[in-house]
Amino acid sequence: MEKFSEIVYKRPDMAALKKAMKQQLELLKKAKTYEEARAAYLASQEITAHAETSYVVASVRNTLDTTDKFYDGEMQFFNRALAMLMPISKAFIDAMLKTPFRAEFEAEFGKQLFTLAEMAQKSQSKKIIPELIAQGTTENNYKKTAAACKTTFRGEECNFYGLLKHMESPDREERKEAYLAWAKLYEDASEQLDKQFDKLIKLRVRMAKKLGLPGGYTELAYLDRHRADYGPKEVEQFRAQVKAVIVPAVAKLREEQAKRLGVEKLKYYDETCIFPDGNADPVGGEAELVAVAQRMYREISPETGEFFDFLCEYGLFDLATRPGKHLGGYCTYLADYKAPFIFSNFNGTAADVNVLTHEAGHAFAGYTAMRSQPLMDYMSSTSEVNEIHSMTMEHFAYPYTKDFFGEANVAKAKYAHLSGALSTIPYLVSVDEFQHRVYAKPEMTAKERRAIWHEIEQIYMPWRDYDGVPFLEEGGFWMQKQHIFLYPFYYVDYALAQVCAFEFYGRMKKDHSDAWKSYLALCRAGGSKGYFELLQLAGLSNPFVEGSVEKAVRHVIEELNV
Ligand SMILES: [Zn+2]
Repeated sequence: MEKFSEIVYKRPDMAALKKAMKQQLELLKKAKTYEEARAAYLASQEITAHAETSYVVASVRNTLDTTDKFYDGEMQFFNRALAMLMPISKAFIDAMLKTPFRAEFEAEFGKQLFTLAEMAQKSQSKKIIPELIAQGTTENNYKKTAAACKTTFRGEECNFYGLLKHMESPDREERKEAYLAWAKLYEDASEQLDKQFDKLIKLRVRMAKKLGLPGGYTELAYLDRHRADYGPKEVEQFRAQVKAVIVPAVAKLREEQAKRLGVEKLKYYDETCIFPDGNADPVGGEAELVAVAQRMYREISPETGEFFDFLCEYGLFDLATRPGKHLGGYCTYLADYKAPFIFSNFNGTAADVNVLTHEAGHAFAGYTAMRSQPLMDYMSSTSEVNEIHSMTMEHFAYPYTKDFFGEANVAKAKYAHLSGALSTIPYLVSVDEFQHRVYAKPEMTAKERRAIWHEIEQIYMPWRDYDGVPFLEEGGFWMQKQHIFLYPFYYVDYALAQVCAFEFYGRMKKDHSDAWKSYLALCRAGGSKGYFELLQLAGLSNPFVEGSVEKAVRHVIEELNV
């Protein structure tokens, strides 16, 4: 392949694509033998992969330079064009579900193919195309609103990312001021954000209604997230385990943190400051950290070494912060090239190292699955599995903490990571419960939604003290979470995955090579099996089963000494 920057982008010819898909659809329907049906199915996968690769190239380039009008226009094109593909993709799914060769397909590719098709059959319909297009437009408007949020900090205009470093400052006054500016930033935008969220809720609820789903949008979101093995009830049981096991441990961590910082009562602006003399920063910028990562991946295993060298050779990451670049970080995949791509905005904090472990963990899993799995649909799994890949890689990187942060910072960096991973879980499940409650009562006003958020916060984060800031006391904190706007119901996947990653971490302590073997097997399996089956394949506990959260995290709580 060529380097990412040299890939020539061409807008897919949608008419030709539809025609080609229709041709394969006819061949699939008319197939007299499994070989014929199989060939039509695989050809359709290939057609989809080409179109998706073009989409990903345009989307990555759009985020690399949001001022580039060309790719901005391409994204608008795709928003509509992809929604218009729904009827043909739906017809394909119907044909697959009716194929007389199901047993042969299952024998070769497993049952997952049909599990996915059955879910798609319930969640896809051309009836909802107008809402899908409107949802895409509203989401884009939200992104623009969020990106335009600005505030002044100590006389300087800055956005959310500009505030981050100050929000972690060891100087209490500085971080308090930074957090106030941060709260003001969201308060100022709240009217607009509330309106956009209202609109999204209405559209989503309407889609579920049109599809005739009795569970409302929550059911549709579970289908869209390919949750075939569990429903809201199981997720509720998981949250209850978090409340029983993790919340008390984090409450103790917060008490210790207050003592360490020498403050009488920990305020919300203290939570991100782990140590009185400041958090550990990495040893250098992009060049230094990438060099450390390259050495690390070469040492971890031959597979990871080959993977990271591939990323470097083909320019498959863009890590520096530049004006005009989209905020945040992500990992995506170019199916045609069997290549992942990592996007980030380095800022000189521990988050930079996290990109090279977490996002690279996703990238490694994708790179591996793309070389092990025969189907486009199996290249990646659901996010509660994909996040196990990334979060577990963060733990596999522990022996290299000294290289990323310097010898003197090892204890601090490791404590910050491990305690941070545990302390985030109560927040993750808060966001999850919030969304369940919002979509259960979609007619709620913005004010009522805030009250609900505040109520949930007190259950899972009883230590949270907003220091009398009215906007936050009323429940305005939820607004900062872009997943609630853009990736509904995603958030609990991080919590489920972190619990599994902790279990992996426990296994690393006992038998490193056995843990690695299971991890590699999980990455190779991609999305070829269902969630529970993948957990089994990796020898992981099912986090919904009572007692499994306790079992997975006890050693972490002990290591953190609380
Ligand atoms: Zn991730």
